[in-house]
Parts: sequence; C-alpha cells; structure tokens
Amino acid sequence: MSELGIGLIGSGFMGASHAFALAAARRVFDLPKKPRLELLADASEALAQEAASRFGFARATADWRALIADPAVDVVHITAPNHFHVPMAKAAIAAGKAVHCEKPLAASLAEANELADLADGAGTTTIVGFNYLKNPIQALARDLIDGGEIGELVSFRGIHAEDYMRDSSAAWSWRLDPAGGGATMDLGSHVVSLARFLIGDIARVSAHAKTVYPTRPGPDGKAVAITVDDQCHALLEFAGGASGALQANWLSAGQTMQLAYEIIGTKGSIAFTQARFNELRLYRDGPDARTSGFRTITAGPAHEPYAAFCPAPGHQLGFNDLKTIEMRDFLTAVAGGGKATPDFREAARIQAVIDAILIAARERTWVEVTNR
Ligand code: NAD
Repeated sequence: MSELGIGLIGSGFMGASHAFALAAARRVFDLPKKPRLELLADASEALAQEAASRFGFARATADWRALIADPAVDVVHITAPNHFHVPMAKAAIAAGKAVHCEKPLAASLAEANELADLADGAGTTTIVGFNYLKNPIQALARDLIDGGEIGELVSFRGIHAEDYMRDSSAAWSWRLDPAGGGATMDLGSHVVSLARFLIGDIARVSAHAKTVYPTRPGPDGKAVAITVDDQCHALLEFAGGASGALQANWLSAGQTMQLAYEIIGTKGSIAFTQARFNELRLYRDGPDARTSGFRTITAGPAHEPYAAFCPAPGHQLGFNDLKTIEMRDFLTAVAGGGKATPDFREAARIQAVIDAILIAARERTWVEVTNR
C-alpha cells in the first residue's frame, strides 16, 4: 500500500487547516506513503458535500461513524468540537484506524487516560494537534535550554490570550460547553504543552479561574448559565525546581494571538511570541553592560524542516506550515517510521495539568499533578 486513505471529520477552522496541511505535506515532504483524500464527514450532507468538493475529498457523509467504519479510510482526523473527541477517538481506535485528534484530547484526565490506554493497548498511532510545538524555533529553544545556554532554569511565564469570546452577546458556541470548553482548556492547554516540551514535568499548581460573564445567550437566544472559565491565572512548580506562571484569557481586548513565554535561567533568558513566531530572542550577558541585550535569532534553513518550505532565511513560515510539519510527523509514524508526538499519552499528561489547575481554582488550594 503506497497510499493512506484519509477520513476527515469536521471542515471548520481546523478541518480546513488539516486539509491544507495534507495537501501541502505530500508535496513539501518525501512521505513514505502519500495521503489520499478519501472521505469527509460533517454535521449534514450539505456541509460535508460542499467541504469535500472544496478540499478535494472523493466522497462525503453526514455520518462520522460510517467514515470510521469505511474500509478505504486508514487514518481518521478529528476536527469536530471538543465534546466529540472522546467518542470519535474511541470508535477510531476500536476500528483499527490511526487517529489525529485536535486538542484538547478530552474534557477530563480520566477520559484522556482512558483514550491513551486504549491507543497503547491497540498499538494505535496517534497525535494531538498541539501544532505550536512543531515550530522549528521551539526545537531550537529546547536545544539551547538542554545545552545549558541559559544556565539553571529558574522561571517560566507563559500566556495565551485572544479576544474571540469577548462579545458577551454573541451566539452560544461549543467552546462554552462544560464538556471541553473554557479558556484554560482551549488556550491554557497550548501553554502547558510548550512548558512541558521546553522545561518538563509540572509537579503542582495553584490557580484563580473566573467566569467573567456568568450568562450568555444560549442556542435558542435565552440566557444560559456559563460554568466554564473566561480567564485563568495559575502558578506552577516544575518537578525540576523552576517556578512558573500561566495565563489563559479569551476576553483579551486587542489580542488576536498572544501565545508567548519567557524562560529565565541563571545565565540568560529566552523569549518567544507567536505573533513573531519565526523569531527567538536570546539573552546572554555581553562583555560589558553597554553592549548587553537580547539578540534575535531568525528562522531559516538551519532550523529543520524550514528548508523544505523555503531555501532563504527570514522569509517566514506560516500557521498552516506548522500543521504541515505536524502532518509529516504523523503520516511518517503511521507508515511505520517511529512514533509521533505529542501522542495521546502526552496529551493525557497535558490534561493532567489542566485538570489540576481547574481543581486548584475551584478549591483555592495547591494541587499535585498526578499524571506525570
Ligand atoms: P469549527 O466550529 O470551526 O469547526 C467544527 C466543525 O465540526 C464544523 O465543520 C462542524 O460543522 C463540524 N461538526 C459539528 N458537529 C459534527 C458532527 N456531528 N459530525 C461531523 N462534524 C461535525 O471549530 P474549530 O475551530 O475548527 O475547532 C475544532 C477543533 O479544533 C476543536 O477541538 C478545537 O479545540 C480545535 N482547534 C485547534 C486549534 C489549534 O491551533 N490546534 C485551533 C482552533 C481549534
């Protein structure tokens, strides 16, 4: 079999990004097996048909269970709203399909662990869409940290703030559903994925989370009580000794993509913001105070796999290129080329931190992260 039959569930923001990345990956990278766009499922026949023809899928269905059962589908991409992730991923594992699931993997640690156990038990190849980890500049940051370039790590501060839930009169959306909704789950999980990738295990947390708008117009226009958080501030203690702070906020007026961190070590610092994600800022003491300061490293062909996209430094990767790198890693693993990361097990470890943060906020206390 020289091809992999792709089944894509959902065709919104992420469905379109997966479709773009699947098409790009087969041209940008020398994949062992090429993805074949086989079947697309959405909530109705009309939605599915329209998206299938727009993205270039051969067939369409309104029944995601039929997509998973289809013998021509080898790989299932789940880009439906969060509350579908668990039933869809379970069904795909049971059917022997490889699974690419969007984040967050599940609405709770128990469910995420169950999925990771099922995938391990069945030998399923999985990946979860924490695409910001695929930025070549994050691999550089981790190499610098592991190489001792900034000394012993003492502090991490990370934020993911956007403004897409700012309008409290906007129509209800699945992001407000307690089954996987909330700013910590939606945005904080990206910060946790980066913190774990760059620094390592988080041992314990405390937090303050707040529902700023306790009611919003429900699906029928009537006010419904909102239980998920609009914003969260958390303190972190890393197992390695560093301390940290995390903010997640989807009411941030003026911020459309503020995923950013600073990591401070005894010899220097690293600073990153997704708004300029082809750059990493590195501080090391200079020979004298007059010339000390951050220097900016710009992504280029030296940062694998930038060169696959562009031979010239500084010309910049875009968001969908990160998804394309994620697709390369996943499809290579599905074709037998090692393990894809972050897999369901790592997503469960990320979920453990999210669960601990939400428990800490509710109980106003420090909480141990148990799934490390
Ligand atoms: P969206 O609302 O734009 O798209 C959701 C899609 O799922 C739509 O096409 C919708 O019609 C479809 N859908 C709904 N019910 C369905 C059903 N029963 N069967 C099949 N399809 C159904 O949402 P989105 O922004 O694309 O988010 C989808 C997922 O991607 C979420 O889990 C979200 O957390 C995640 N996400 C990840 C990132 C990232 O950076 N990795 C960014 C945004 C969203």
